[in-house]
Amino acid sequence: MGLFKKFRDAWFAPMSFDSLDDDFYDRLEESLILADVGMDVALDATEKLRRRAYDDRLLTADQVKGALREILAEKLEVGDSRLDLSTQPSVILVIGVNGVGKTTSIGKLAYQLKKQGKKVLLCAGDTFRAAAADQLEIWAGRAGVDIVRQNEGADPGAVLFDALAAAKARRSDVVLVDTAGRLHNKANLMKELAKLRKIIDRELPGAAKETLLVLDATTGQNGLIQARQFKETAGLTGIVLTKLDGTAKGGIVIAIAQELQVPVKYVGLGEGIKDLAPFDAKEFVGDLF
Ligand code: GDP
Repeated sequence: MGLFKKFRDAWFAPMSFDSLDDDFYDRLEESLILADVGMDVALDATEKLRRRAYDDRLLTADQVKGALREILAEKLEVGDSRLDLSTQPSVILVIGVNGVGKTTSIGKLAYQLKKQGKKVLLCAGDTFRAAAADQLEIWAGRAGVDIVRQNEGADPGAVLFDALAAAKARRSDVVLVDTAGRLHNKANLMKELAKLRKIIDRELPGAAKETLLVLDATTGQNGLIQARQFKETAGLTGIVLTKLDGTAKGGIVIAIAQELQVPVKYVGLGEGIKDLAPFDAKEFVGDLF
């Protein structure tokens, strides 16, 4: 596929894997830091490679690259990267601060799931922001799926309750729930998310549930700060990393997976409805070099 081939230049293109001397390991560490994987990952991956090269007597450039691919993939494989859609309906709560691409990602995911034959229902749970529900409705139209919404200022819990009732009545396969993303009032935000989760547990006790955190890849270390704040929300099951088309580095994927110990499940690669890809760690590292 080669979705991630463009990151090659930022990572290993200038490097030679032919002689494993100190200079090689210094350059490797530097390349990893420049690619945005974060200092800890860069140091640890370099150290692991050094040890593995010695223990396993790696000699050829291909052997070294293979080992490095494995080491980096391990850092991304921190859980199942597929969505749990094992019940009808399944419920996916989508959280994240404003502007990261939450609405867009919900629209893209709805389109993708519908193409897979699923009956999708969107829930406009961001009743705080003017026009949030309007925007979601536009995406529902593009994807050809249903939406449950109320007026601006409505109680998000009430909208969710309606949406879950509609999903049961209409036999929907998946409910995608948009949520408010205001972070300047963190305590309230977290309380609201907990409330929404409680409603889902009460209305659909046995349902497969996901909580996906949407993060913007172009915000680099800021994204990590946001991730840390949302980490406190119990039950985070996956990351959607948007705007990966807007960065030349890409290492933030590893930094975030490591920071949260939660798998990246999807990546956004553009503004169009088809620009969302399920994330596969092996594909990512395979494309790098
Ligand atoms: P929300 O406030 O989190 O719901 O964010 P929106 O979904 O409204 O998206 C904010 C902006 O980011 C919009 O202009 C989107 O087109 C853009 N956007 C979202 N995802 C991607 C992506 O993967 N790549 C690019 N280039 N732009 C994106």
